[in-house]
Amino acid sequence: MTGQRDITYCAVADCRQPALLAAAQCRQHLPDSARYFSRLPTLLHAANNAQLARIDLRHVEVTAAHLAGAILTAALFDGTVFTASDLTRASLHGVSARGAGFTEMDAAGLDASGAVLTATRWLHVHVEDARFTNAIWEAAEIRGLEGARADFTRASLRQTLFAHCTLTEAWFTDADLAETVFDGCDLSWAVCAGCHGESLSLRRAALDNTSFVGAFLDGADFSEAYAPRARFSAAILTGAKLVGALLTNAVFREADLRGADFRNADLQGAILERANLEGANLDGANLAGANLHGAIVS
Ligand SMILES: [Zn+2]
Repeated sequence: MTGQRDITYCAVADCRQPALLAAAQCRQHLPDSARYFSRLPTLLHAANNAQLARIDLRHVEVTAAHLAGAILTAALFDGTVFTASDLTRASLHGVSARGAGFTEMDAAGLDASGAVLTATRWLHVHVEDARFTNAIWEAAEIRGLEGARADFTRASLRQTLFAHCTLTEAWFTDADLAETVFDGCDLSWAVCAGCHGESLSLRRAALDNTSFVGAFLDGADFSEAYAPRARFSAAILTGAKLVGALLTNAVFREADLRGADFRNADLQGAILERANLEGANLDGANLAGANLHGAIVS
């Protein structure tokens, strides 16, 4: 751990709130808050490891800020526009950032667990190894995110759009992915076990070794996905579209595949033991070497 993390407290007697960045008082006891907030953008240029818990930056434009390792717990970022800033290893636990924007950012190792990120927009942000557990991302728009190993466990990503994102080895365990779009994204080796992915879209996504064990994927779209060795055991894929998907050696043990569309899918060596394929469309599918032992096919 490098850098200092000096926590200074408000100068007002008996006030136990942390003082604001480069100020002697907390937000409540600040004598001239308008003047303070007009100076803020400059102060944020050198705020690595700063103690900024509960700071109010709503609708502020934050450019070229150095907030690596900063404590921004429960801060207010609603409508804040972050550009070209460093949030590496910063703590954004429990922040409120509705409608905020994040562009050209380095935020690897960020902790934004429990954050409210509804309707945020992300463009070219690095969040490798970041934590978003239990975060709410509903209706967010995320483009060019570099998120290898990021943790979205139990996060809500409903109706969120991911485009050109790298999410290899990311965690989506028990996440809410209803109507989420990951078309063309790389989720190889990601773990989506137990996720709720009704109408989830993964068209042309890279899903090499991705786990969807026990996931609810009713009506999900895996058209033309590259998913060798992907695991769908005990998953519900009723009415799912897997048209033209590459599913060689994929595992669908005891999966509910009723009404699924596997037209022209490559299922060579796939394991479909005890899977329910009632009403599934296998026209043109390659089932060479597939294991259909105990499967229900009609
Ligand atoms: Zn105070």
